[in-house]
Amino acid sequence: MKISNSEKRLRQPIVVVLGHVDHGKTTLLDKIRGTTVVKKEPGEMTQEVGASFVPSYIIEKLAEPLKKVIPIKLQIPGLLFIDTPGHEYFSNLRRRGGSVADIAILVVDITEGLQKQSIESIQILRERKVPFLIAANKIDKIPGWKSTNDIPFLASIEKQRNDVKVYLDNLVYNLVSQLANLGFSAERYDRIKDFTKTVAIVPVSAKTGEGIADLLALLAGLTQRYLETRLKFAEGPAKGVILEVKEDPGLGHTIDVIIYDGVLKKNDTIILGGINGIIITKVRGIFVPRPLQDMKLSKYDLTPIDEVYAAAGVKLSAPNLEEALAGSPLYVIEDESKVEQYKQQIEEEIKEVRLYSDID
Ligand code: GDP
Repeated sequence: MKISNSEKRLRQPIVVVLGHVDHGKTTLLDKIRGTTVVKKEPGEMTQEVGASFVPSYIIEKLAEPLKKVIPIKLQIPGLLFIDTPGHEYFSNLRRRGGSVADIAILVVDITEGLQKQSIESIQILRERKVPFLIAANKIDKIPGWKSTNDIPFLASIEKQRNDVKVYLDNLVYNLVSQLANLGFSAERYDRIKDFTKTVAIVPVSAKTGEGIADLLALLAGLTQRYLETRLKFAEGPAKGVILEVKEDPGLGHTIDVIIYDGVLKKNDTIILGGINGIIITKVRGIFVPRPLQDMKLSKYDLTPIDEVYAAAGVKLSAPNLEEALAGSPLYVIEDESKVEQYKQQIEEEIKEVRLYSDID
């Protein structure tokens, strides 16, 4: 049977970053975004609302020296990183029976190992069935480590003295044994044979950029290989989750939304959860940040667009959003007869959101 292109098309995996305070989540996200900005084609949009997009050709360029270890020919268009790290925010990313996040990076300061919030993060990832890999961060702090900015980990390790390599291995094995206590088998990524059974540990430095290439290549390679069904792009009506509800100058109340499936168009009718019940409204505007060619532009400068394809982070304006609920699902209603069904579904799902926000 011939498979048409649209059947084969994959959307970009949604990536979240979790980990203990001060282990380097923000620095890592900044480094990934910085790498992308330097390497991207002029005028290309990589900044979305609440998320940043790293296109596949950049990942392929960075991963070129790793071809022998991570042979990837990318079918996914790139990776979409949620900009706000941490497990409190992650809890807003729920979708029926799991999470909007397709994969997570757990950032661990390799010199400290797993700490309280690392373990909490693992528990919540396990609960939501989100696969993860570990960025073993701050390798530049290892005594005797010689850093070279922005090279792959596998190139950097070749430049280290033997005793430094042994020191790193000991730190990695501390992590491995901590993870074993939590019921996970884990290993340094270049020594793994079966990625479905073993959590990959990627030594990185968010400060020097060492290992960022390995991390991106692995994220892309693993998601497109093992999450293909989940990443199949559906042409249908959009499904999303509300990240934040805001009041924007000139736009009134708006919602920041991650669209994880389908297509959203201007004037679509959407249904979402509100503080005092279900809201049905019509999309008046869809906005993304303006490309940052002029650095003087405020980061809130927005460009209106007519439609958006999953996966993407956008801002929506529409009437009656004052009471919209962060963490609620959002669906495009393509057919009036389905309103009741959607209502019930959303009510069930936001019971859980309210419960969680009470606990928080
Ligand atoms: P977060 O709380 O997990 O977001 O951690 P931050 O990204 O704010 O980092 C906490 C501190 O660790 C900051 O002072 C960073 O500069 C520092 N840091 C983060 N990554 C690295 C790294 O790879 N190497 C070193 N030496 N310091 C780092």
